[in-house]
Amino acid sequence: MRSFEYARPQTEAEAVALLNDHDSETTVLAGGTDLMNLLRRDLVGPKRVVDIKQVESMRGIRPIDDGVLIGALATLEDVASNPLTADYRSLLDVVDGTRAIQIQANGTIGGDLCHLPNCWYFRNGYGLLGYDNGESLVQAGDNRYHAILGNAGPAKFVSASRFAPAMIAWGARVRVIGPEPDAEEYLPLEYFYITPRLSSQGVTVLKPGQMISHLWLPSAGRKRSATYEVLQMEGLDWPLASASVSVEMDGDIVRDASIVLGHVAPTPWLSREAAKQAVGRPLNERSASEIGDLAVATATPLSNNAYKVQLARTAVKRALLKAVDKLEGGL
Ligand SMILES: Cc1cc2nc3c(=O)[nH]c(=O)nc-3n(C[C@H](O)[C@H](O)[C@H](O)COP(=O)(O)OP(=O)(O)OC[C@H]3O[C@@H](n4cnc5c(N)ncnc54)[C@H](O)[C@@H]3O)c2cc1C
Repeated sequence: MRSFEYARPQTEAEAVALLNDHDSETTVLAGGTDLMNLLRRDLVGPKRVVDIKQVESMRGIRPIDDGVLIGALATLEDVASNPLTADYRSLLDVVDGTRAIQIQANGTIGGDLCHLPNCWYFRNGYGLLGYDNGESLVQAGDNRYHAILGNAGPAKFVSASRFAPAMIAWGARVRVIGPEPDAEEYLPLEYFYITPRLSSQGVTVLKPGQMISHLWLPSAGRKRSATYEVLQMEGLDWPLASASVSVEMDGDIVRDASIVLGHVAPTPWLSREAAKQAVGRPLNERSASEIGDLAVATATPLSNNAYKVQLARTAVKRALLKAVDKLEGGL
């Protein structure tokens, strides 16, 4: 691990100022459940680590104009226990799937949304795109956990965030602050992620000196939602594929829908085509299957991961049925 300066701001303004020092060769520390590993293995090498845990305004969950404002420091446990998030079932499904109580107590929403890929080539020092001597190790090597959608370019990792698909399906916005002292923007979360063409580009639109301070969710209203994650293990594990949906029903008929797949592409994968197919129909085994088929119709699996197409298809189907309480056996 390289040495770095450690800073502990008390306010958002101090945090932004500290992030902008050292030519912005700085990084945010929240719960630290992933960043500490990245630092230890020299996968990131900032000159200064800005520990935001003392910034009170970024804690907690509160009601705000037409919705709920979640601080970037809210933990998974906070999301699970706060009455304001009780109507956002797709988020609670994610907390439920993250079985490790250490992660539930320490992992934060901001940290989850900005989590760098779990791609083993990246984690073993081959850069975000997993290249060696100009060759994609992912393309040529073991790519069983890699992308099946949006993988035509050099980025073939999958987006690691577990909450992003559910939040995007709800139409969430992130409040981004910095790099100028008073700069703030509420950006739709669906535009927050990028598919990099260069390792230096990162996985989000955040520029040096910027950070997430909050996440805004619109009022749940009459919308129903669910997340279905395909997990190999009961304990600490990342989904092989997931789907989050939110639907507005008119009786038995879908009036509006949003369908977002996770862990199948370098970004959370919003399937507008599948959502369009859902509108005007009832949700049952047959329609949910057809919508699942459409969600993966453009998949281009790599040499070892064709199995993920079926998992993603099934995740969409089951998330839709779960949202309207028609998933038999609770699975
Ligand atoms: C060994 C281990 C195994 C894990 N396994 C799983 C697992 O199986 N499943 C699972 O779901 N989770 C797992 N996690 C948890 C995972 O780390 C979560 O994503 C967690 O929510 C990250 O939150 P954090 O606050 O600890 O983030 P940190 O580790 O503090 O930060 C993560 C990244 O986000 C950036 N960041 C943090 N906050 C902000 C912000 N406000 N603005 C901008 N950037 C920010 C950091 O700079 C860093 O790059 C595991 C963690 C560990 C250590």
